[in-house]
Amino acid sequence: LDAKEEFTHTTLAANVMRPRRNEVPLTVLTQDDMTVEDLEATINETTYNGFPVIVSKESQRLVGFALRRDITIALENARRKQEGIVTSSRVHFTQHTPTLPADSPRPLKLRSILDMSPFTVTDHTPMEIVVDIFRKLGLRQCLVTHNGNVLGIITKKNILEHLEQLKQNVEPLTSPWHNNEKGYS
Ligand code: ADP
Repeated sequence: LDAKEEFTHTTLAANVMRPRRNEVPLTVLTQDDMTVEDLEATINETTYNGFPVIVSKESQRLVGFALRRDITIALENARRKQEGIVTSSRVHFTQHTPTLPADSPRPLKLRSILDMSPFTVTDHTPMEIVVDIFRKLGLRQCLVTHNGNVLGIITKKNILEHLEQLKQNVEPLTSPWHNNEKGYS
């Protein structure tokens, strides 16, 4: 295998990220136009550990990442303690409250649970590099972007599945003594 050939066979972040082609789209949150009801529905209808937060459905620009755990706690606290937070309250991850009609219920500010610099790689990043980043930084997940717009997510479990698949593809070509030479197990 010469270098060029190896390069053309390299798996890229786009090949490993979810959703895969034809799968349901990534579940994302928008930074300032969802209601408490929308957010609760998203939490109840999915089991994902976290959600990319984007500027708006139109722009898809990534602004951060919010964990299910933190959202659940914030919603419970808001419902229990913060007077005026109701089903139709607007949720915002932005610093400033969006402009709302005068008779709107009090909005729920979730800025404090937003990770504003989640790890990201571009869709063209070779998986070797992505795996290395996961190992060295102990990541749980990484977002995949193209021109600042979010395309997908890679979790630690996705990385482990990818490595397992590599091992299976490689095994017939490798002698038993060398299966673990890259330390992938
Ligand atoms: P794990 O990979 O540890 O099971 P999750 O439950 O968060 O973690 O994710 C389950 C699967 O769904 C993974 O394949 C992951 O890539 C994908 N996934 C994670 N978050 C989202 C999301 N917000 N929208 C769509 N798919 C997601």
